[in-house]
Amino acid sequence: MEKLVQQQKAYFFTNKTKNYAFRIKQLNILKEMLLKYENDMYDALKADLNKSKHESLTTEIGILHTEINFTLKHLKKWMEHKKVETPFTHKGTKGYVRSEPYGVTLIIAPWNYPIQLAIAPVIGAIAAGNTVVLKPSELTPNCSKLIKEMIDATFDPAFLKVVEGDKHISQSLLQQRFDYIFFTGSTNVGKIVMEQASRHVTPFTLELGGKSPTIVSKYAHLPYAAKRIAWGKFTNAGQTCVAPDYIYVQKKVKKKFLLLLQKEITKLYKKDPLKNDDYVRIVNESHFHRLRTLIEPKKVIFGGQVHQGDLRIAPTIMDNVTWDDPVMKDEIFGPILPILTYDHIDDVIEKVRTEEKPLALYYFGTDKKEEEKVLSSLSFGGGCINDTLYHLANPHLPFGGVGQSGIGAYHGKASFDTFSHEKSVLKQTNVFDIPVRYPGSKLTESIAKKLFR
Ligand code: NAD
Repeated sequence: MEKLVQQQKAYFFTNKTKNYAFRIKQLNILKEMLLKYENDMYDALKADLNKSKHESLTTEIGILHTEINFTLKHLKKWMEHKKVETPFTHKGTKGYVRSEPYGVTLIIAPWNYPIQLAIAPVIGAIAAGNTVVLKPSELTPNCSKLIKEMIDATFDPAFLKVVEGDKHISQSLLQQRFDYIFFTGSTNVGKIVMEQASRHVTPFTLELGGKSPTIVSKYAHLPYAAKRIAWGKFTNAGQTCVAPDYIYVQKKVKKKFLLLLQKEITKLYKKDPLKNDDYVRIVNESHFHRLRTLIEPKKVIFGGQVHQGDLRIAPTIMDNVTWDDPVMKDEIFGPILPILTYDHIDDVIEKVRTEEKPLALYYFGTDKKEEEKVLSSLSFGGGCINDTLYHLANPHLPFGGVGQSGIGAYHGKASFDTFSHEKSVLKQTNVFDIPVRYPGSKLTESIAKKLFR
């Protein structure tokens, strides 16, 4: 690993990666690679998570193409030096900010969108002119193997290299001296990454998780709310960092909303989701057992069926859930949807405030005042009004958490900025030299007093 980092450092110091044409070429090569291996990616995602072609295209491969196309279109503009204003005290100088790549970057990825979440940050790192060492998740071995195969066959390892492995490999990588670390995963591991980064004061981004609330108010368009929540929660069998973790529904509309929600889930996954070949499975046995124990049969009003052999858990709704239930203790990260009820929006705000800041929050309602109250009272990474998940697919919106749900953001221009250091430069004139800054005469002192007060 040490050798690999040194090799990449040497490559970076050739200055090749900083060139605009080089970055564009590598992004195009990456795009070609995705096209060439598209069918292999469908197969690997099916083998690891039972993802359907449609889900693989819309939530993994398609997002990568959107990101690359967006970056190819805007990179020239993003790379331009940004001029700043010159205050009166700095007459004769010019100030500007140039975005420079950090150097050798480390990207550590999770398993839930194993291809998208590994390669999306790579796009930003290349666009910003860095080299990359990428470690995919060991929990989705077919995808990890394929990512390595594709990248090994396509890129110079001194520029972009995949290192496969588990947490021990990850920790050995973290021992190396990188110039930037980009981590996606759980908050607990994020803390370890942060600790490791602090040893060399290495800058980092942490894309973490948390319990994302979804509020359904009496002002909501209930049929759309039910449809969009059903899709957002059970896509990838709830194994999505920004999936609605739980629902807070206003008492007045609860009955109607729950009926609509059940109808929408059935429409999406048919009567027997465990037999639906397009329904995603749970990643491994340990997550299956963790989720299974969260289901309290007495509270289940929909679903609840599990199939251990196939590692499948049907979309499940639990009603009358309280904050004392085990399902409310940690991020669920599976197809279980707890329902909590409220009378007044202030009660929701008060409770959510006492929890860690979530990665996402969704508010369903058409009352502008209430919408503004929610947005201005609660802190969260990002979210939607009257929708779920959709914000993360818009490359114009930075995506990231706040507090325990993450530090930093990416996607689109935010990816370029994340992987760039903003270097401030002041260029002084040699035509004259303003004397006020130098100590000496009474005149300069009196001018200085006027200028600096
Ligand atoms: P994880 O933290 O267990 O693993 C993520 C990566 O870290 C893997 O590559 C793994 O090999 C490595 N790792 C695991 N333990 C480690 C250790 N002790 N030291 C160093 N490296 C270690 O996360 P996961 O289970 O793969 O993913 C699920 C979590 O990720 C959820 O909390 C979810 O919300 C979050 N997530 C966040 C985003 C986001 O964009 N914010 C996206 C997807 C998932």
